[in-house]
Amino acid sequence: MRRPDPTASLAHIKHQKSNIKHQTSKIKHPLEIILTGTGTSQGVPVIGCDCEVCTSTDERDKRLRTAALIRFGDKRIAIDCGPDFRQQMLRSRTCTLDAILFTHEHNDHIIGLDDVRPFNFQAWTDMPAYCTARVQQSLLRRFDYIFTTQGRYPGAPMVRLHTISKGQPFEVAGLKVQPVEALHGRMPVLGFRIGDFAYLTDIRTIASEEMEKLRGVRHLVLSALHQREHHSHLNLQQALNLIAQLAPEQAYLTHISHRMGRHDEVQRELPENVTLGYDGLRIDCS
Ligand SMILES: [Zn+2]
Ligand SMILES: [Zn+2]
Ligand SMILES: [Zn+2]
Repeated sequence: MRRPDPTASLAHIKHQKSNIKHQTSKIKHPLEIILTGTGTSQGVPVIGCDCEVCTSTDERDKRLRTAALIRFGDKRIAIDCGPDFRQQMLRSRTCTLDAILFTHEHNDHIIGLDDVRPFNFQAWTDMPAYCTARVQQSLLRRFDYIFTTQGRYPGAPMVRLHTISKGQPFEVAGLKVQPVEALHGRMPVLGFRIGDFAYLTDIRTIASEEMEKLRGVRHLVLSALHQREHHSHLNLQQALNLIAQLAPEQAYLTHISHRMGRHDEVQRELPENVTLGYDGLRIDCS
C-alpha cells in the first residue's frame, strides 16, 4: 500500500499552468450536478424540533448536510464530504469517485472523510482531495490516523492532498476548475467555477475581483441560510441580491435551515430563475 504523503503533490500543483480560463474550458461531456445535500449544519429535520418544516411530509423539506456531486462522462467529483457523505453516495448510486473538492473545514463539510474507504478498496488508490493549505492543517489534525506515516492501521482511508488557492486554477479529472474566494464571516472559503457552472456555499460576502470570476455563469448554486440576518451566511434576500447582480439563467439555493420555511411556500415567492434547492436536485449544464 502506498503511504499517503500529504505534501507530495505540492510541486505538481505549482507547475500547473496558471492561465486556465473558464471561458475557454473545453468540456467534451455535458456537466451534470446533483445536489446531494442542501441542509445547514444540523440538517433538516432538526433533532427534537416539531416546527412545520421539520414535521413536513414533503421530501423536499428533508435535507442532508450540504454537498454536491459533479458528473462528467464517467467521472465523479464530490464537493465536500460532510456527516451524510455515505448516505449521499448510496442515494446517488455513486460507485466510483475521482476526487473531492473542499470548500472549507467546518465539520458539516469534512467529517465524512472516513467513508472514502469503499472507493479506496475498489480502486486501490488514494482519493485525491483538493483544498487550501489551511483546510489541510485542519484535516491533518482531525484525521491524524489517515495521514500518519507511523503505525498506520491497515484499512485506514487513503487520501492524497492537493493544495489549491484562490489565484490558481487547477485541473481535476479532465475538468478545469477556477477557485473563487468568498468570506464566511471572517473565514475565507472557496467556491468553484467549472465552465458556466459555479458553486458557492457558506458565504456572507465576496470581493469585487472574485465576483468578476463569476461573470457569465449560467448555472449558479449559492447558499442562503434563512430569512434573518446571520454573521457568516447570506440570508435569502442577500442571496437574491447577489443572484440579481450575476443574472444566471438559473440559480439554486442550498445550505438551508429549517427556519427558511417550507419548500413549497418559499419557492412560490422566488423569482423565476431561482430554485430553492432540495436533495437530489439535478442540474443539467449542457
Ligand atoms: Zn456549512
Ligand atoms: Zn424545525
Ligand atoms: Zn461553514
